Amino acid sequence: MRIRTLAAGLLAAGLALTACGKEGAPSDSGSGEGNGGDGNAAETLSYEVAQDVTLEGSPTFEKMTNRGGPIVGVKEDQPGLGYKDPTSGEYSGFDVEIARMVSARLGFDPAKIEYKPVPSAGREQALINGDVDYYVGTYTINDERKEQVGFAGPYFVAGQGLLVSADNEDINGKDDLKGKKVCSVSGSTPIQRVREQGLTEDGNIVELQTYSQCVNQLAQGQVDAVTTDDAILLGYAAQEPDNFKVVGETFSDEPYGIGLPKQDDALREKVNDILQEAMDDGTWQEIYDATLGQSGNEAEMPTIERY
Ligand code: GLU
Repeated sequence: MRIRTLAAGLLAAGLALTACGKEGAPSDSGSGEGNGGDGNAAETLSYEVAQDVTLEGSPTFEKMTNRGGPIVGVKEDQPGLGYKDPTSGEYSGFDVEIARMVSARLGFDPAKIEYKPVPSAGREQALINGDVDYYVGTYTINDERKEQVGFAGPYFVAGQGLLVSADNEDINGKDDLKGKKVCSVSGSTPIQRVREQGLTEDGNIVELQTYSQCVNQLAQGQVDAVTTDDAILLGYAAQEPDNFKVVGETFSDEPYGIGLPKQDDALREKVNDILQEAMDDGTWQEIYDATLGQSGNEAEMPTIERY
């Protein structure tokens, strides 16, 4: 029931943003206003672009400077976090706003960001290849990944949860998954956890490239549950509260980091400073309130983990 209410709230909030996109804006610089309400929270958020930023010893910063803006890896199918509006082509969500804020504080106009959708399984390689300068997309910081990429953050902590059909009464937590078909995504921590903890039989694990593909399978009755971070699942439930619900307690900690090229310590330090400042000056809270916070959930600001 509680989740239903949250989902409905998120939906209503989305509609409210469409209706009055200019009100309650965190920083009303005005630049993003007046271009038609498409329900995109980004219309209410704008960031002052830092002037004369320099960053010694950061090859990635140099690339961004020479190009005149960053290439940012994102998700495009995760409403509330990283979502590309199929009609307007606009990106929105908590992760996208974090990406924009970081760009502005690095001295690059967020309007100049080139977004590159990269699914979970492609993140490390995209950073290693230099296809993206940084990645913001529900990317859990862990030691295994740190062998290949760098992380600034965390800027948010999610937890693994379950999405099922609204009329499902059998699955109420991770211990109810045996014998059930469970969908998750290649290269993600949740699918790894399903396997390691044997939450269902190997033959019942459906592994796809994106969570929206899993949600489609759930809608068609081809799988019984989708598992990943609660923040992601709540976004899908909010879009279709009559069809889906999020059930049970979360069963992991997923600290979200900004993925960076591994060797670029100077950029990692700088982005950590930026995240810390955004938490201290209220910007983080404004971003949260305009995106994930629309669900009515409160979130704690995490402690930046410098290494
Ligand atoms: N946060 C988890 C991960 O990084 C799941 C979400 C995702 O796949 O992006 O693997």
